Amino acid sequence: MRRVYLDHAATTPLDSGVLEAMMPYLTGEFGNPSSVHGFGQRARGAIDEARARVAALIGARDSEIVFTGSGTEADNLAIGGVLRGAMLEPDAERTDLVTSSIEHHAVLNSAKGLDRARHRVTFARVDELGRLDLKDLAAAVSENTALVSVMFANNETGVLQPIDEVIRIARAKGAYVHTDAVQAVGKVPIDTRRLDVDLLTLSAHKIHGPKGVGALFVRGGTKMNAIIRGGSQERNRRAGTENVAGIVGMGKAAEIALSRLAGDADRIARLRDQLETKLVATGRGAVVVNGAGPRICATTNVSFEGVSGEDLLIALDLAGIAVSTGAACAAGSPEPSHVLKAMNFPRERVNSAIRFSLGRDTTEEEIERTVDAVTTAVEQLRRGGGGPSTRRPEAGV
Ligand code: PLP
Repeated sequence: MRRVYLDHAATTPLDSGVLEAMMPYLTGEFGNPSSVHGFGQRARGAIDEARARVAALIGARDSEIVFTGSGTEADNLAIGGVLRGAMLEPDAERTDLVTSSIEHHAVLNSAKGLDRARHRVTFARVDELGRLDLKDLAAAVSENTALVSVMFANNETGVLQPIDEVIRIARAKGAYVHTDAVQAVGKVPIDTRRLDVDLLTLSAHKIHGPKGVGALFVRGGTKMNAIIRGGSQERNRRAGTENVAGIVGMGKAAEIALSRLAGDADRIARLRDQLETKLVATGRGAVVVNGAGPRICATTNVSFEGVSGEDLLIALDLAGIAVSTGAACAAGSPEPSHVLKAMNFPRERVNSAIRFSLGRDTTEEEIERTVDAVTTAVEQLRRGGGGPSTRRPEAGV
């Protein structure tokens, strides 16, 4: 039985074209891009080409792309780098960060890790549909705000955030704007010539590239300090010998994502809608988060009344279907999802949430199988046949 993978928000399979592009740089072309000889120069050329491809995906200039070791690192660089940069300003008034309560832990924990004696950090609220409360954001942004960081699309619900309004609010007070677009890149057209953010995070493994590579778009002129210090790689913005094969893979993945974006997004959205409609129609108490609102095409968060999401995840895994719970968990101790909690969901709904995230290879037949498997599993669990879950929950992805 072919397994069904509906956890593309956690990671995507490596595209075969990406692997092919990477192979030379894992074998014969092993040069260090900083070396002057031919080996080094060929590696440098490959990085340059990858940079141009990533830049093209988001309408950036090549010089505005900084490769990092992950999306997480890019988020850390955006927040740590800008706030450190801001502290060096002659008018070091701008010391504060405003972000949202539903960010990925890469942003949340970067924010929480800032020295609170020097930086005021505010986490703006969201409403019950998972959308940023713009009034709360506006109330928090001031002349002291160095950076406003709000994600483009949420990783647990897929809900698109009102980025244009966020930019307007931040700009009115002269603050920089960062958006974590890890879940949106490749699913929604993003053009930094029109989207007036200063910083934007991408991750390769969410767009069928390799794990352990990310990038930060840093608009020309943005004052940002490196957080990883050492050599002068990435124009002094990220030290360390480059992950050449990974970067080449990210470049290829970006090129493919750009060429497929429109077709993939429409097809995946249709399948997502089918999945939701059928799950609701089974009459098993399925409730979709923000079903009518603006979301990315691939992700839906559905809770099943009276059923533990954790138990349902395990039952589905046994039936050959890979999904995840809405919960972002700390190792060993399941913590209810901070995103769904921030949306003020009652505890039972938080605990019964499942995230289905579709991908470019998802088929209609897989959606049918998933609906059948969910229907059976929910019935069994309601009858008490599920048993307590023994698995460790996944970390927040
Ligand atoms: N930001 C968001 C919204 C994500 O969903 C993820 C990964 O799940 C990250 C950041 C982290 O990216 P990476 O896995 O490349 O560190």
